[in-house]
Amino acid sequence: MNKLASFSNDADRSQLAADLLKQMGLDGKTLQAGDLTVRSPVDGLPLGKVKTSSAAAVDSAIAQSVQAYERWKTVPAPRRGELIRVFGNKLREHKETLGALVTVECGKIYQEGLGEVQEMIDICDFAVGLSRQLYGLTIASERPGHRMAETWHPIGPVGVISAFNFPVAVWCWNTALAIVCGNSVIWKPSHKTPITALACQHMFAAAMAELGDAPVGLSQLIIGAVETGTQLVADKRMALISATGSTAMGRKVGPVVAARFGRSLLELGGNNAIIVCPSADLDMAVRAILFGAVGTAGQRCTSTRRLFVHEDIYDALVGALKQAYAKIRVGNPMDAQTLVGPLIDADAYESMQQTLSAVEGKVIGGERVLEDVYSQAFYVNPALVEMPAADHTVQEETFAPILYVYAFKSLEEAIRQHNDVPQGLSSAIFSNDIREAELFLSAAGSDCGIANVNIGTSGAEIGGAFGGEKETGGGRESGSDAWKAYMRRATSTINYSKELPLSQGIEFNL
Ligand code: NAD
Repeated sequence: MNKLASFSNDADRSQLAADLLKQMGLDGKTLQAGDLTVRSPVDGLPLGKVKTSSAAAVDSAIAQSVQAYERWKTVPAPRRGELIRVFGNKLREHKETLGALVTVECGKIYQEGLGEVQEMIDICDFAVGLSRQLYGLTIASERPGHRMAETWHPIGPVGVISAFNFPVAVWCWNTALAIVCGNSVIWKPSHKTPITALACQHMFAAAMAELGDAPVGLSQLIIGAVETGTQLVADKRMALISATGSTAMGRKVGPVVAARFGRSLLELGGNNAIIVCPSADLDMAVRAILFGAVGTAGQRCTSTRRLFVHEDIYDALVGALKQAYAKIRVGNPMDAQTLVGPLIDADAYESMQQTLSAVEGKVIGGERVLEDVYSQAFYVNPALVEMPAADHTVQEETFAPILYVYAFKSLEEAIRQHNDVPQGLSSAIFSNDIREAELFLSAAGSDCGIANVNIGTSGAEIGGAFGGEKETGGGRESGSDAWKAYMRRATSTINYSKELPLSQGIEFNL
């Protein structure tokens, strides 16, 4: 049953948040004792106050993280995986409750809240399997009686900085891998979504207690705005900073970590596009575009922001899309009928309106709705903008449901425009022509980290590596071999002969 069904849409959401926390084992008073007011985007009203971390508290969290790492790195990896297995089971137990809390705190519809928790469960399963792998290579040596091998070792304390729009899954992608790889973790969530973070941290602590032998401080939470993140990023003791958020944030974080020779993993903004060719299944394309462009109220890094439609099918596809837009139900994300919930806050709304007022094309939608019901929350009709033919496409990511539509004549031209942006996260082509699809996936095609065929830009599975090129930051998280970012590599040459030949045949004799 829908966890939210038992609460009226007009219920006191602060009470709801406290009740959900209680169901996950946290004291409801957690929300009464702090200096940071957290608001629900559903109605714009306070959910409660949580305690932020002082600079001294961040410093001691880092010291404890170093100590925890020193112990954890020697625990056999399959035992480390056992902790993630226990944690994954806790997530299964509380999937509906945590999913509901995600909806209340960040405003995505309940189906997407559940999906976010499922992603956490999936990455835990992946990490448990990984904990019995973490393979290195054996390499042929050029010298007789020698063997070369690679070993992967834990890297050190990992700082995870996350954005408001995936308040829990991004942390879990990082943490599940970092922990099985033998590291400790400190998490700084967005100051807009610290309550779901408190819930996750509590569940992780319960999993550690159940395991029994995980060191204190293995996973910690620090709460605060930019300054808290800046302190974590600048600290030499943090071996890896995995930061998810805007390109503006990454532009600051990257150089600071590089200057102290730390390692960073950046997951930044996108400007994702779909190309629709004449052979495409238009019904499938419309459904995928709709989910990509308006799902999560356009607040996904992989949201579809640009659409390139071949001129022969432009009227048919864009006509169908307009009809679909007219049917979208915008409203309270706790209501099962709603497809599009609120924007996160007033700033997001202002930024959307500014973008729309400056746009060159013909705008349909984009206006604020439900102001009479929720005067302090920001609901909008998703906007569709028909753009004039242009050499350059929209270069900026506006984190709101705006879809720019362009007509194209040739696929080569569409691909050029597709790639002509600073970001490089997710991309898709709808085509039933194998030549077009393969061209799009080839080196001459999409320049993004994710390139799909007959699937939209958002909604990645955890099995693949997730991330993008150019100003998206170049990092990869989640599946495939993304785990290597959380480890350091040692190359070893072992001599089991009685000679000491030098490589490259160098003679060096006395
Ligand atoms: P944001 O950049 O405002 O904040 C993200 C996080 O970075 C927050 O925790 C924030 O406190 C912290 N932060 C900001 N400046 C910092 C600094 N100088 N030093 C250290 N920490 C700092 O982003 P947001 O508004 O929360 O999220 C939306 C953005 O995130 C969009 O651009 C979206 O595309 C991007 N995003 C990217 C991915 C991805 O995987 N590529 C996933 C989700 C969101």
